[in-house]
Amino acid sequence: MSAVAVVGSGPNGLAAAVTLARAGVHVRLYEAEPTVGGGARTMELTAPGFLHDWGSAVHPMALASPFFREFGLAERVTFAVPEASYAQAVSGRSAVAWRSLERTADELGRDGAAWRRLFQPLVRHRVQLLETALSPMVPPRHPLLALRLGLRVLEHGTTIGPRRFREAAAPALLAGVAAHASGPMPSLGSAATGLVLATLAHGEGWAIPIGGSQAIVDALAADLVANGGAIETGARIRSVSDVGDVDAVVLDVALSALPHLVSDALPDAAAGALRRYANAGTRPGNGLCKLDFALSDPIPWSDARLTSAGTVHLGGPAGEVWHAEREVTSGRFPERPYVLLSQPSLFDASRAPAGAHTVWAYTHVPHGSPIDATEQVVARIEEFAPGFRGTILASTVTTAVELERGDANLVGGDIGSGLLTLRTMLARPVLARRPWRTPVPGVYLCSSSTVPGPGVHGMAGHQAAQTVLRDLARR
Ligand SMILES: Cc1cc2nc3c(=O)[nH]c(=O)nc-3n(C[C@H](O)[C@H](O)[C@H](O)COP(=O)(O)OP(=O)(O)OC[C@H]3O[C@@H](n4cnc5c(N)ncnc54)[C@H](O)[C@@H]3O)c2cc1C
Repeated sequence: MSAVAVVGSGPNGLAAAVTLARAGVHVRLYEAEPTVGGGARTMELTAPGFLHDWGSAVHPMALASPFFREFGLAERVTFAVPEASYAQAVSGRSAVAWRSLERTADELGRDGAAWRRLFQPLVRHRVQLLETALSPMVPPRHPLLALRLGLRVLEHGTTIGPRRFREAAAPALLAGVAAHASGPMPSLGSAATGLVLATLAHGEGWAIPIGGSQAIVDALAADLVANGGAIETGARIRSVSDVGDVDAVVLDVALSALPHLVSDALPDAAAGALRRYANAGTRPGNGLCKLDFALSDPIPWSDARLTSAGTVHLGGPAGEVWHAEREVTSGRFPERPYVLLSQPSLFDASRAPAGAHTVWAYTHVPHGSPIDATEQVVARIEEFAPGFRGTILASTVTTAVELERGDANLVGGDIGSGLLTLRTMLARPVLARRPWRTPVPGVYLCSSSTVPGPGVHGMAGHQAAQTVLRDLARR
């Protein structure tokens, strides 16, 4: 029986471990932190009885990721799927992306037809679209669909996109969802991210796990153990030689950590190739400052429709979102920041004591910034929900610097594993059919530094593990 060590228990590390264990490999998983889950942990961060997601909270790919479908996540975890996937708070009437494409288009009035034209074909082919987006681009899984998406990305990654619409609401909705990929805007990377997420919003929806994101990683960990795998927490691995004699090591770590972890085991012949692999042109991405609130009442939105949305983007019209993101990317904290917010207790009563609520929010900040943006985020929420301040029972801030302390992969508080550019969209970290194979024999990288990048989908881990199985079979 082959033996493989997996380092790191984020969604990708767990997906790799599960895939290997299910194939009959003996797996031992090492996690530096006291609990498993990486960017998908849930804990009481503000006050007793209030359950907060430390990292990810809303899961556009939980019901759509090919790995999660194969794993049977929907049968193991209960999800709430909000009627409105996301909304863009705008003074006056906000813009809402309902799960129903038709309802969204109807509410967009004069721009309804353009919205329908943009998303109908993508929603219809969303299974293939996601397979393409979550796999290496050489060659693309579905070339025609990749081309269709590519053309839309070219349009919406430039100032041409908003000109397809006559009013401000549709461009604002698109800017809000594209800004998940923090960086200069408009850009091809943010447009690609936005279009895929917006397509899923009208498909399976953006799911919220009952009990928090921890439910997802706990289901993976339970399956690993049921298939004979072992998990060791509080075990920070400093060199691949720490894991003993195994057939392969799969690393759910940041790309920048790879050279340190393999320096003991590095054959001279691989040194140059490793340097090229690990310095693959990735630029540091923006950080984020995370806020958690315990509330006495739900957020008193001026536009009550925002209560139906699982995720609310506070950013006003498209130009304002673009400006905020450009400021952050230039190293400045904007006066009117873009804020991503969810109130999971509206959809899952287990998150807060009866009648009370939890709020998860973050705003982008420059890479590695120690800024505490509590005041700015509260002011931004107040703009769209006067009286919000009065509902706060407790709050906790996690700065970009503190995020890295809680998960070594979040270098500088960056959840994107580097700035998303055209290059890193195609080559992550290298342009290859199997980019998870590092130049060091027997060592694989499976974190969001590899294809397909950030998000809770498990696809980097799953595909890295398939590569390991292939290589083991050849040996
Ligand atoms: C605040 C925040 C909000 C987010 N919101 C969303 C969201 O709503 N939806 C979404 O889909 N995604 C979201 N994300 C992104 C998502 O959480 C990540 O993309 C995803 O968790 C990446 O998974 P991973 O397995 O690659 O790495 P991680 O989840 O970062 O896990 C890596 C693990 O490896 C461990 N580790 C690292 N080095 C070592 C070592 N040397 N030895 C042992 N262990 C080690 C770390 O402790 C960590 O547990 C968010 C992230 C954050 C931080």
